[in-house]
Amino acid sequence: MIPGPIEFEPEVLRALGAPTTSHVAPNFIETFGHALEQMKMVWKSPSGQAFIVAGTGTLAMDLAGANLIEPGDRALVISTGYFGERFAALLKRYGAEVKIIKSEVGGVVETKKIENELKSANYKLLTFTHVDTSTAVRVDPEPIGKLGQKYNVLTILDGVCSVAGEEIKQDEWGIDVTLTASQKAIGVPPGLALLVASPRAIESWKNRKTPVLNYYADWTNWLPIMNAYSDRKPSYFGTPAVNLVAALEVSLKLILEEGMEGRILRHQKMAYAIRQSLKAMGLKMIPKNDLISANTLTAPYYPQGVDGGNLLTEINKSGVILAGGLLPEIRGEYFRIGHMGAVNQGDVLATIGAIESALEKCGHQFEQGIGLRTALKILNS
Ligand code: PMP
Repeated sequence: MIPGPIEFEPEVLRALGAPTTSHVAPNFIETFGHALEQMKMVWKSPSGQAFIVAGTGTLAMDLAGANLIEPGDRALVISTGYFGERFAALLKRYGAEVKIIKSEVGGVVETKKIENELKSANYKLLTFTHVDTSTAVRVDPEPIGKLGQKYNVLTILDGVCSVAGEEIKQDEWGIDVTLTASQKAIGVPPGLALLVASPRAIESWKNRKTPVLNYYADWTNWLPIMNAYSDRKPSYFGTPAVNLVAALEVSLKLILEEGMEGRILRHQKMAYAIRQSLKAMGLKMIPKNDLISANTLTAPYYPQGVDGGNLLTEINKSGVILAGGLLPEIRGEYFRIGHMGAVNQGDVLATIGAIESALEKCGHQFEQGIGLRTALKILNS
């Protein structure tokens, strides 16, 4: 139950373990082309251009940054935790003049503040993190997408911890790039950088005056490959991660079979059950309220008087693996529970049960059984 890599569906793992074909074998060309089409459905972006490139989520960030930034461009980074800082560092590497607006820990940056900043200078793009995996804070992308349209600023959504677990409507919200990695709610072992770029983002890249400063990430190399697979034609730039792409096609199929609305509701219900149960046991969450709490992971503070290391060790003894803190300012004060993708109600109950037993063993005072009772009540409603 960590926030990635998650647990994977057996069908996805079977596809991963199938014999590796050539990257130009007809069946693989069909698989790749179909995966690109399914991505656009999951992202809700019929007008977008999907990219599948071997690498991690950070490469997906690089694909956006390297292709859309030219030296001297202004970029605004809206940061709600650890991954905003990473985007700022990456954009600077490509020569951007970066301004970073940080939320307070557990909060979001107000839309008004973002709008004022966009009015004050001529920004080329802005980036923001849908769900920051270090804080479990969820940002509402829609108003930011709309601001990007209003002020003609490209909007880049880091959806590594959200795509296929949180609601995303890329076209409707006017987001220019939504990027993710395979190992989270998309449900495929680590190794694929995934993104969908809007026609406006592609246009901006085509109008560059200077070459892209990253050879591997350059869309000049990848766009013809994506187009070829879409047209079901052979092509080559860098050998694709054949087995991972096969697994991706299966996972996207399972996601779309579940249906995006049903899938998002399932994540919302599990997240609500986990948060409410933890609160009932006396734990406080990092996100300041439910409206900005992620549905893909939960980040509670350790209760006062409980040693974090001991608590995680006790939880582990019940066979449940959770993650420690990540945000440097408060790293030792909280832990994280991932609940995306294949996670089901049984997993949620096992997790709450393990936390409840461990809290008791660590001497935390609370009403025995309240955690599991609260979770059951919500899950059965
Ligand atoms: N952004 C967010 C929000 C993330 O959670 C992560 C990974 N945890 C990344 C970017 C980077 O992804 P990767 O580790 O696959 O490079």
